[in-house]
Amino acid sequence: MHTDSDILQLEDAQQACTDVPMAESTVNSRTRDLDRLLLRAGHLVDPNFQPSIELKDYIQDYARVLVVGAGGLGCELLKDLALSGFKNLDVIDMDRIEVTNLNRQFLFRLEDVGKPKAEVAAKRVMERVSGVKIVPHFCRIEDKNIDFYNDFIIIVLGLDSVEARSYINSVACSFLEYDENEKPIEETVKPMVDGGTEGFKGHARVIIPGMTPCFECTIWLFPPQVKFPLCTLAETPRTAAHCIEYAHLIKWDEIHSGKTFDPDDPEDMQWVYKEALKRAELFGIPGVTYSLTQGVVKNIIPAIASTNAIISAACALETLKIVSGCSKTLDNYLTFNGVEGLHTKVTHFEMDINCIVCGPGVHMELDTSCTLQKFLELLEKHPKLHLSKVSVIFEGKNLYMQGPLEQETRSNLSKTLFDLMGRVPSGTVHVNGTSSKNDKKTSGLRKLRVFFKGADGMTDMDTAGGA
Ligand SMILES: [Zn+2]
Repeated sequence: MHTDSDILQLEDAQQACTDVPMAESTVNSRTRDLDRLLLRAGHLVDPNFQPSIELKDYIQDYARVLVVGAGGLGCELLKDLALSGFKNLDVIDMDRIEVTNLNRQFLFRLEDVGKPKAEVAAKRVMERVSGVKIVPHFCRIEDKNIDFYNDFIIIVLGLDSVEARSYINSVACSFLEYDENEKPIEETVKPMVDGGTEGFKGHARVIIPGMTPCFECTIWLFPPQVKFPLCTLAETPRTAAHCIEYAHLIKWDEIHSGKTFDPDDPEDMQWVYKEALKRAELFGIPGVTYSLTQGVVKNIIPAIASTNAIISAACALETLKIVSGCSKTLDNYLTFNGVEGLHTKVTHFEMDINCIVCGPGVHMELDTSCTLQKFLELLEKHPKLHLSKVSVIFEGKNLYMQGPLEQETRSNLSKTLFDLMGRVPSGTVHVNGTSSKNDKKTSGLRKLRVFFKGADGMTDMDTAGGA
């Protein structure tokens, strides 16, 4: 149903379309489609959207985009983003190219095997798309300091692990600050677009920290790994996978007491395959092959090139929409299923206001006499956190670090947190540790909003530390 104001708006929009000079765009056919989105007003645009040549220049010359992962999704993403007009891309990936990647990671050739994925992917896209600059980073995502991630206007994730997503999510959310009314401060919002595929299934989601759920808010979407009950394997196998897991988990230990199974040793794999075959014959179960044995033992789900292409296209489009405002974004979680026919659906998930990663932060009230050591003990006992092996950062300064910096920061443990934070009445500290909550090990930066009792008046200095 159209209202009068809708129609007026539509007329305005059409008027605006004809007002914007399209001369340049008709000349340059490579950006023709992009120009239609960026140089004309529209009916479904963001309220702040200003169609203009300047906006196009901004996307091409200034907007820096980080692609995390240069695998199946990452290759597609780099190509899609480069062809969508982004000219300043960075890509980070710690892996080297393997022969088995070549069927879908189309930027790589046989002669690239053994080379870093990030470097080859960047080079290939730059060769093919003129004017684009891609900086490769061949390292672990944890090796970069936090400031590295703050330089990008948006972070696009093409990853295959929950841990890596969780880490990037916690970094992006650590930039987020809330005002006194617990509203997110716009300049501190670091948007993310996350893609993921598994066989013929995939998802694309938009994460605007403070507004849409972050990765941690909906961590329950990832079901625990399916494991077969041992009694089924031992007594009533029904599938080829049951026979393989029997050989792998039960029979191996019976025969090779003490020797651990090495999934990368072809001899070990052959042994499991032959045992699985014997068991399958015994129970009359078909389907045990060597490649299935590898798949089950290594828990490999075959990657499908077309799924990667579809999910990447959705992610690249969302990235363009978020950076330019040329259209409303996905709200906020798209699932794709191509197993039988094709099904897509967009689900609106709600942010968890109590989320310890993207929420306003865990509120902690401390005495000014609370030492850093005592603070660490409180984090371990805290019902929302249960954090151990904690590092503490305040305004980019390491107050206490695990690992190689431990010795250097150890002397801070006996100092009060109040002094270490420059005697401010309240402030936000970031902590990084391991949480054993719900048996789910997660690590990443957590935000704590610390308030010091009586710090404004500074009269009550003798109370014992503690919250
Ligand atoms: Zn969250």
